[in-house]
Order: sequence, then structure tokens, then C-alpha cells
Amino acid sequence: MDARLGDVIDDFCVKCRRLTNHSVVSLLNGAAAKVRCRTCYSDHDYRNEQAPPSKKDLKKAELFNAVLSGVAQPPAAAEESADGAEPKKSAKKPGKRAEA
Ligand SMILES: [Zn+2]
Repeated sequence: MDARLGDVIDDFCVKCRRLTNHSVVSLLNGAAAKVRCRTCYSDHDYRNEQAPPSKKDLKKAELFNAVLSGVAQPPAAAEESADGAEPKKSAKKPGKRAEA
């Protein structure tokens, strides 16, 4: 499992947008830390052959976090108006029934 400088390993290249051969250019605890794409020669952190999240995924995560933070805040104002509106709604129903 130990990698050595200059070893050729597979990794995902963002520029090539696919798995390509990479040479190990930096090591951390015996594992590849930085690699250089053998196709476009760009250096980047070793990604363990994982593609980075796409822009779509990032947007999804952003929306998800926005929803979460919205839920975390107690909707006090919304609850008050809902309580006040409920009796009125049930009072309207008999009138509609009489029409039909
Ligand atoms: Zn590349």
C-alpha cells in the first residue's frame, strides 16, 4: 500500500475530467498526497480516485443547508396567524355546502 515518489497511480483529473495515470509527487504517511496528471501534467491533491462533487451536487447541498437552517428557526409568527385563521375557515364551510 506504500506509495513511492514517481509511482504511477490512477486518480481523477479535473482537467481531463476522467481517471488518468498520475505520478506521485508528494507523500504523506506513506500515501500519495499530491499527484501529477500524466496526460495534462497538472499537479493536484490525490483524490483517492474519487471525482469531486459536481456543480449540481454543490447546489443541492446549498439548498439542503438553507432548508435546514430555516427549519432550525422557530416559525413563531406563522404559528400565530395559523391559529387565528383556523376558526374562520371552518365557519366558511357550511356556507359553501348550502350553495351546492
Ligand atoms: Zn489531466
